[in-house]
Amino acid sequence: MSTTIEQMARPLLSVEEARAQMLDGLEPLPAENVSLEEALGRVGAAEVTSLTTLPPWDNSAMDGFAIRSDDVRQPVTLQVIGEVAAGGVADVTVEPGTAARILTGAPMPPGADAVAPVEDTDAEPGVAELPVRVEIRSTFNAGAHIRRAGSDLRAGQVLLRPGDVLSPAAISVAAAGGHAALPVYGKPKVAILATGDELVAAGATLGPAQIPDSNTPGLMAAARDAGAEARSLGIARDTFESVRDALDRGLEWADVIVASGGVSVGAHDVVKDAFAAVGRIDLWRIAVQPGKPLAFGRAGKTLLFGLPGNPVSSLVTFELFVRPVIRCLAGHQDIIGRELVRATLTERVRKAPGRRGFVRVRLKRDGDAWLADLAGGQESHMLAALAAADGLAIIPEALDEAAPGSAVDVIRIR
Ligand code: AMP
Ligand code: MG
Repeated sequence: MSTTIEQMARPLLSVEEARAQMLDGLEPLPAENVSLEEALGRVGAAEVTSLTTLPPWDNSAMDGFAIRSDDVRQPVTLQVIGEVAAGGVADVTVEPGTAARILTGAPMPPGADAVAPVEDTDAEPGVAELPVRVEIRSTFNAGAHIRRAGSDLRAGQVLLRPGDVLSPAAISVAAAGGHAALPVYGKPKVAILATGDELVAAGATLGPAQIPDSNTPGLMAAARDAGAEARSLGIARDTFESVRDALDRGLEWADVIVASGGVSVGAHDVVKDAFAAVGRIDLWRIAVQPGKPLAFGRAGKTLLFGLPGNPVSSLVTFELFVRPVIRCLAGHQDIIGRELVRATLTERVRKAPGRRGFVRVRLKRDGDAWLADLAGGQESHMLAALAAADGLAIIPEALDEAAPGSAVDVIRIR
């Protein structure tokens, strides 16, 4: 596919228009059951209820003595008749005038209705030998230091709703509720492809005219960070055949293929032609800076992204367009999943009018407000500035510069 006069003349798509086209008709991937170990960050696909009541029985909140509250209306000495430890069964009955030593989490023995913590007795804490008698030095009402059965979870209680994102605590409560696995939406499979005759794998010795492929490791990490399983398709040469061959390999596995480089209008920019050969192209020019030339298409159910090659452009356009697609496939309701903060720019920035600018900034606190310092040079090959940034300050399309003191919205990227 070559660039036609008509395409050149077409206005650039806004970020929202482009995103809407990419998300059009997109559904979360089919649900699957995953073990609790694999569940972190996944999105619940069905309601899950507790299979257990917890605690299953009244138990002690303290190390101490299970007593009858009626016995301890004033300081008294009680006969110690036995002990209940966590994991043990309560096989003693606390009769009037007696007490049973009890450890935290152990079931309350029959007859007892309160626990006197060891600190409120004459017993030595941490002594294995059971005392014959114990002096209780305070008074306790019925229920003191007892955790009631069902005070945490009740069988049938809802633990997970569709759309809930699984946090460590959500995983823990699912385990407490008797589950070893949970129903979640599928994990998007994302294949990453670098293109360019100048590229060699990171860490390899550079020949003349060669640079490291920095996009592959960066985009793989960004895909995983967005919740995907990522694989590399390697580095394709700047030929239609090489790119097409890599796409064919990717299509056997991936829900999303993310290529970078080779996507503008240069003689070696073969990615759009290769996309058109395996599927179709839906759009390819978006009003953003960095990152104007961006190809998006589909081949069957696989989404195809051709991101600009410059490392900053590829990571920023990944953030703006690929990340929401991954989150949508993973079942997130909040597909952007980033916080916006209002900040004051501390330096002047210039940009191309007609495109929305995403300026790499560092946020710092200024009392209740935020200041946004430039994180470094803003050209689209200046990766170190992106690595130093914790936000992308949004500069509206209409402006060709933003002066120091301007209020900007900043997308927090970490
Ligand atoms: P292109 O769009 O292919 O013309 O690439 C634009 C710029 O990005 C060129 O300077 C490329 O060398 C550079 N570039 C493209 N792909 C990568 C990559 N995977 N890693 C590092 N730089 C890249
Ligand atoms: Mg290239």
